[in-house]
Amino acid sequence: MVEKNRKHLTRRGFLKASGAAGAALGSAGLFFHGIQSGRNPASYTGWKTREGGDQTFNRKRFAVDSPTYEKAGEGQRVDARSGVVFSRLPGLMRYWRENRGMEGLPEYLQLYYKEHPEDFDLDLYNYRELFPKMRSDAVRYGDAFLLAEAWSHAMSAVQVEPISEPPEIADFPGRRRGFMGGDPQKPLKMKTPQKTSRLIKKIAHELGSTLVGVTRLNPDWVYSHPMRGRGLDPDEYLEVPKHWEYAIVVGTPMSWDPMYANPNYGTSEDAYSISRIVAFRLCAFIKRLGYAARPHYPGTSYDLMVPPIMVDAGIGEQARNSVVITPELGMNFRAAVVTTNLPMMPDKPIDFGVQSFCETCKVCAEQCPSGAITMGGKEVIRGYRRWHLHAAKCYNFWNSNLGNMGCRLCVAVCPYTRKSNWVHRAALHVTANDPTGLSHHALTRMQKVFYPGPDPQDYFMPSLGGKNASYRPPPWWLRTEDFIEL
Ligand code: SF4
Ligand code: SF4
Repeated sequence: MVEKNRKHLTRRGFLKASGAAGAALGSAGLFFHGIQSGRNPASYTGWKTREGGDQTFNRKRFAVDSPTYEKAGEGQRVDARSGVVFSRLPGLMRYWRENRGMEGLPEYLQLYYKEHPEDFDLDLYNYRELFPKMRSDAVRYGDAFLLAEAWSHAMSAVQVEPISEPPEIADFPGRRRGFMGGDPQKPLKMKTPQKTSRLIKKIAHELGSTLVGVTRLNPDWVYSHPMRGRGLDPDEYLEVPKHWEYAIVVGTPMSWDPMYANPNYGTSEDAYSISRIVAFRLCAFIKRLGYAARPHYPGTSYDLMVPPIMVDAGIGEQARNSVVITPELGMNFRAAVVTTNLPMMPDKPIDFGVQSFCETCKVCAEQCPSGAITMGGKEVIRGYRRWHLHAAKCYNFWNSNLGNMGCRLCVAVCPYTRKSNWVHRAALHVTANDPTGLSHHALTRMQKVFYPGPDPQDYFMPSLGGKNASYRPPPWWLRTEDFIEL
């Protein structure tokens, strides 16, 4: 399917066109010049403005009819109570009794652990051993990360009201104000789905989003049993509400320097908080037009899986580490989704060469301290062929370092997560147009030479044999020792 999609340039045409680009990219001097020009904060995203008003990547050229994941059987929906580690581990902690063992767990957890015995061991190890170790290491070494923690806390300080009613109530607008025109009891009549898509994208940008895409919602991506705090009963099977026809994806970048200084100084809260706010604002806008809208937002307030929806909406492609890579931001962003019945023209998925590049690259798998990212090939997961991320291993590493909230190392080390200077844009152009894969080896090699990282073991906290290492040093404004007497 990927091969079928990638017909933008012939092999001969690419080889001809890539001669000049290859020569330019092969020059270390020019490369360093590019790194220097990347010091301008304006180059931290692939957009000329935060709102994305002047797009630097021509998505239309890479639009394809089918997404770059592959359907390989009957799709199965995820049970969020067990299939999502952020819900599963709290469940284990709530119900686990040493004297009762597995028998004391609810049936859905027993079923999951019987199918995934390795996750049972990993989750129990996290609960019994990692949490206490992290607490004691935080007492001994945590002072160094006080400013990073305060910054992350500040970013997440403004929270939104959790949804307390079911979708049939919570998603629908109240009566619109009558003096604004139109029948206040009915949705406003939109001219065409094309015009509505254009309007919604512009509004999303104005509301603060950097990335935005629209798709029809594939029911396979909706959890079969929802998360808590969504106005739904997690123990009841969720029929996909009929008004969840479309999904709008919005995304905003994480602050560059802390993201680069992962795992100890990064936080996803900076982008989480803005994407969350954009999703709520967008819902308010859509409801004002008289249509239903529901936000699905980070950290753990989703009724659906976001990455495949991003792929469907043409935001990017799902990569080796399961995260979506976009042409503009690489993986340096966090997303929210709005489900709605507002009729829109969906975007097409894109294929700009990520599947083929990830086959060669494997940098994230080599740098991942937890071994969660596979070095191998794709697998069929719930009816779709893609790379498997071992989420329980990833999550255990979150409690094996002193960082604010987890780890984003695979984001930081990825060759696509690079500043938008001319060298990196040229490299993106070469890989996106390369049907041969020849450039991928060279660019992966350059990534390893110019952006080396510490030994993955060094990322662990000291009680686990590590050195509290980060991929890059922290920015000046997160160095506790420079500002606070300890
Ligand atoms: S977030 Fe960290 S631990 Fe998880 S997959 Fe990425 S690099 Fe590995
Ligand atoms: S680091 Fe390499 S293998 Fe991993 S997601 Fe990025 S391009 Fe793909």
